[in-house]
Amino acid sequence: MSPSDKICDQNSGFLNQFCYNNPVSPKGPGTEKMDQLIIPRAEHSISRRMIDEEALRVLYRLHRHGFLAYLVGGSVRDILLGKTPKDFDVATNAHPHEISALFKNSRVIGRRFRLVHVFFKGGKIIEVSTFRSRSEFEEVQTEKGDIIRTDSFGTPAEDALRRDITVNGLFYNIADFSIIDYVGGMADLERQVIRTIGDPDERFQQDPVRMIRVIRHAARTGFSIEGQTYQAIFRNREEIRKCSPSRLRDEFLRDLKEGAARSSLSLMLQTGLLFSLFPGLERALGRGGLSEKKSRGFFLSLFDLVDQLFKTGRQVTESILLALLLTPFLRAVTPQHPFLGKREKYIYWAQSIHWAIHEILTPFSFPRGAKEMASQILIAQSNLRKSIKNGVIPKRLRMKKYFKEAVLLFGIEAEAKGEKVPRILQNAVSADLLPWWPKKLKTRDQRLRERDVPQTGVQESGRKTTLSAHPNRPLAGEEMQSSDPGKTGVSLLHE
Ligand code: ATP
Ligand code: MG
Repeated sequence: MSPSDKICDQNSGFLNQFCYNNPVSPKGPGTEKMDQLIIPRAEHSISRRMIDEEALRVLYRLHRHGFLAYLVGGSVRDILLGKTPKDFDVATNAHPHEISALFKNSRVIGRRFRLVHVFFKGGKIIEVSTFRSRSEFEEVQTEKGDIIRTDSFGTPAEDALRRDITVNGLFYNIADFSIIDYVGGMADLERQVIRTIGDPDERFQQDPVRMIRVIRHAARTGFSIEGQTYQAIFRNREEIRKCSPSRLRDEFLRDLKEGAARSSLSLMLQTGLLFSLFPGLERALGRGGLSEKKSRGFFLSLFDLVDQLFKTGRQVTESILLALLLTPFLRAVTPQHPFLGKREKYIYWAQSIHWAIHEILTPFSFPRGAKEMASQILIAQSNLRKSIKNGVIPKRLRMKKYFKEAVLLFGIEAEAKGEKVPRILQNAVSADLLPWWPKKLKTRDQRLRERDVPQTGVQESGRKTTLSAHPNRPLAGEEMQSSDPGKTGVSLLHE
């Protein structure tokens, strides 16, 4: 029984409309006859109202000039899932020079595969590519071992089969508004499954970055990874180290930046892909014993908070993401031995950070600026702790360009540990830096009433609050006065 037969057997109704004789060739693209399933407009949910106006213009223009014109990739998937697509890509049988002849506002780009960018007002770009027979990242070698990097134009079916996962392989045809499905994508959308197109071992060996993409799409949609695909990630995870560092960096950072960092990293831990990417992390998170379980839980909760920040529209910079990635490793190597004095601990901490950045992040070609910033905000954590203890944040620390990010990192860690961010730090940055911080700080009266402390000697003056010394009243660590015009209170009178 073929996988598609199983799909049809297991599902009634909607799926029974979508039975394929041979949805995907198990031997990979182009090796067997490919059947297509056409879903007419009346039987699917994509309406032209959901498609970007400029993308529609491009589709219609190609169509009017006698070319095939399909909306492809992530936009078709997202519309079917009821989401707003990030971008709208078009595929056609017109060759790049024919496409650029049709659009004055366009440019042919691409080193390995030429495609056309059509430019519109406001910087919008619609990417138009000619149907291809293989992915741009699959290198074809001649018998002599030379790598062929010429365009390999193909048929629509080949173009569908060269794509990564079935739900990304659907086409929307502007000629009759139907969906064309060569890969079983509609059935997998319905079943909520992420599955590679073709044999997963083969597809991951051709381009190991697809393993990261499978995990990202599963994490984003909440779909489950189909069994064979999951097992193949397990088997092929070490292949990931063969990929170009810049592609790995881009695809990995997309995992962390799009609101599904926690589930992406959780799947990467389950499959072991994270340790193939970052072997240095295995020592801190790897063996699965009790302490590793705790560290994994903590690590994931950090990225859960990153997702929360993303969902409330806040920026989490690459340097914060890199610093968070190093956190489990740094927690594992931090010295606690009483023999070490404060200074030695600080030096050890700073050196561990430099070493971790070099050891763990260097193979990835992360931008040098982001790595330096990550190192500074990590080192600054110890200065922040010292400031909290001393009750004052030195001006030279507050003026550092990484100060806000350092406080944000502190806040994320504190929240993940279930601890409060000391008021001295909250007040040193804008109130909405972290969504889980109280938007409106309680008034001094409220706080004092809560603590049942007599209010004698307390004066309020606008936003800035001054505490006059009272002989019988020790000042709590959170009560402070502003010492710096333009900043809300950051220095503490007493501990
Ligand atoms: P997103 O919503 O994040 O943009 P996407 O699916 O559109 O998701 P892109 O990276 O924009 O992802 O890629 C566009 C399309 O190109 C994908 O939908 C997929 O069909 C194809 N694709 C991208 N990377 C690969 C790859 N490594 N191998 C095969 N096909 C790929
Ligand atoms: Mg896309």
